[in-house]
Amino acid sequence: FVRFADVQKTYDGETLVVKNLNLAIRRGEFLTMLGPSGSGKTTCLMMLAGFEAATHGEIFLDGRPINHVPPYRRDIGMVFQNYALFPHMSVAENLAFPLEVRGMAKDVIAAKVKRALEMVRLESFANRRPAQLSGGQQQRIALARALVFEPKLVLMDEPLGALDKQLRENMQYEIKHLHERLGITVVYVTHDQGEALTMSDRVAVFNDGVIQQLAPPAELYEAPENAFVAQFIGENN
Ligand code: ATP
Repeated sequence: FVRFADVQKTYDGETLVVKNLNLAIRRGEFLTMLGPSGSGKTTCLMMLAGFEAATHGEIFLDGRPINHVPPYRRDIGMVFQNYALFPHMSVAENLAFPLEVRGMAKDVIAAKVKRALEMVRLESFANRRPAQLSGGQQQRIALARALVFEPKLVLMDEPLGALDKQLRENMQYEIKHLHERLGITVVYVTHDQGEALTMSDRVAVFNDGVIQQLAPPAELYEAPENAFVAQFIGENN
């Protein structure tokens, strides 16, 4: 469904932050990019979203090369750690925004916004501003906004990084549940091993711009392919 073919990325013309990446992500899969800070995970997500150009290689979405497709025409939903909600808009206006830029009719937008709010159980918060919500509620709104236009692919970059432990666990469950219910493909970035292992169908362990191992969580535990994977998966668990 998503394919990175020989993708490389350098920001300064010298250091490769992503080295010769080959990765095929299946339709409907929950794939996590796991690795230490600076290992190239976010760069991969940015290239897939279209905010960074690959220096070499091609990315395919649904069989189509997308290197030259601008971000807003890729129909990919995105959730970031800092929520990135528009502070001057109400919750409902935040959710309506991606639909308005797609030129949808007002009544269709209203129905979709309502459904998205129900999905994250925040129907009664439609008229509040983001600042009037807790961090967890803001993140659920960001999640609803990423899903409101019914994308087939959703990218999440450390979406729960700013939340406390209890809330993070609740949100992990909620995201996983939505993934299963909606049948969407999720590419998730985290440096938290526990999070990667609980949520994912498969985990790509990154180090230094290279995937060290790509496997289901149990396999990473039972059969790490090298010392880096063994050590990284073993930490904090
Ligand atoms: P983190 O979890 O800290 O976000 P990451 O694994 O997502 O780490 P990237 O953000 O992809 O890693 O960064 C990989 C490398 O590329 C780092 O060395 C980083 O400093 C560098 N880098 C990232 N973005 C840029 C940029 N816009 N310009 C120059 N260098 C960059």
